[in-house]
Amino acid sequence: EGKIVTIGEILVEIMATTFGDGFLEPQPLIGPFPSGAPAIFIDQVGKLGAAAAIVSAVGDDDFGTLNLERLKRDGVDVSAVEVLPGAATGSAFVRYRADGSRAFVFNMRDSAAGKIAATLAAESVLGGAAHLHVMGSGLPMPAVHGMVSTAIPALKERGGSVSFDPNIRPEMLRDPAGRAALDRVLAATDLFLPSGEELMMFAGASEETAAIAALLQTGVREIVLKRGKAGASHFDRNGRTDMPGFAVEEVDPTGAGDSFGATFLVCRRFGLGIGESLRYANAAGARTVTIKGPMEGTSTFAELDAFIAGATVRSP
Ligand code: ADP
Repeated sequence: EGKIVTIGEILVEIMATTFGDGFLEPQPLIGPFPSGAPAIFIDQVGKLGAAAAIVSAVGDDDFGTLNLERLKRDGVDVSAVEVLPGAATGSAFVRYRADGSRAFVFNMRDSAAGKIAATLAAESVLGGAAHLHVMGSGLPMPAVHGMVSTAIPALKERGGSVSFDPNIRPEMLRDPAGRAALDRVLAATDLFLPSGEELMMFAGASEETAAIAALLQTGVREIVLKRGKAGASHFDRNGRTDMPGFAVEEVDPTGAGDSFGATFLVCRRFGLGIGESLRYANAAGARTVTIKGPMEGTSTFAELDAFIAGATVRSP
C-alpha cells in the first residue's frame, strides 16, 4: 500500500497558560509542542498506521529534534526532513483570548521552514508517493511550489491521488500569481478539504450549494467541508453526506482540521465508507481540540474507537 506524502513547515508552538490579549507582560507558558499544519497532518496519518512521509526542513536545535523524534515515534518517514546546520526551527507563541480567538507571535521569517529545498531525499520520497497532500500555506514558497508542480503530474501519471487543504490567508487569493497556483492544484485535486469560509473564497460564491456545484464542475472528485463543532459534510457527484460533530469541551482548536483531514483520507484509503470515514474524522478533530498542543491530540484507531464509544454526538 502506497505512501502518503506532504510538504511543508515544521515548527514548535509555545502557549500561554492564561487567557489574554497577547504577550505584553511576562506570563506562564507551556511548551514547546511539535507543530506546523503539514506536520500535524502527517503525524495523524502515521498514528493510524498508514505509510507516511514529510518533506521539510528543521534547524539543528532541540525544537527540530523534538519534532523529528515525535514524527519518527509515530511512524512517519522523516528521511526528507533536512536538518540545516546553523538554522533555527521556527516557533509560534500563542495566547487565547477569552472569546476563543488567538494572538500570535511568530518566529518564522528566517527559520528552517523557509529554507525547504528540492533535495535528492525530497525527490526520492515524492517519487515514491502514492498520494500527495498539499497545504495551501506552503505554496507561496517557490521551492515548495516547484516540488508540488513537478510531483503532481508524475503522481497522476502513475495512478496516484492528491488531496488539498487550502489553509490559506485571503491575501493569497487576491494575488493573481497566488490564485493561479492554488487553482492549478485545485484542478488536480481528488479530495478537497476546505472550511466553510475557504469554500466560499475559492468558489467565489455567496452560497454553499452553488460553491460545491462549481467546484465539482471543475473536476474535484470529492469535497469534505469542515464545519468546526457542527461536524462535516461530504459532497461528490452522487450527492451529499452530513455527519454531526461530537460534543466536547474545546481547550485548543489548533490542528483539528489537519487531524480531521488525515483521518478521513486514511479511512477512505483503508476502504471504509464515506459515513464511517466522516465519523472517524470528526472524532479525530474533536479529540484534537480537547488536548492542549497542536500535535498532542492526534489519535490511533484504538483511541478513536474508545473516544467514539464514550462520546455524545452534538444534536444538529
Ligand atoms: P479547521 O481547523 O481546518 O479550521 P475545523 O475547525 O472545522 O477546521 O475543525 C475540523 C474538524 O474538527 C471539524 O470538522 C470537526 O470534526 C472537528 N472539530 C473542530 N472543532 C470542534 C469542536 N469544538 N467540537 C467538536 N469537534 C470539533
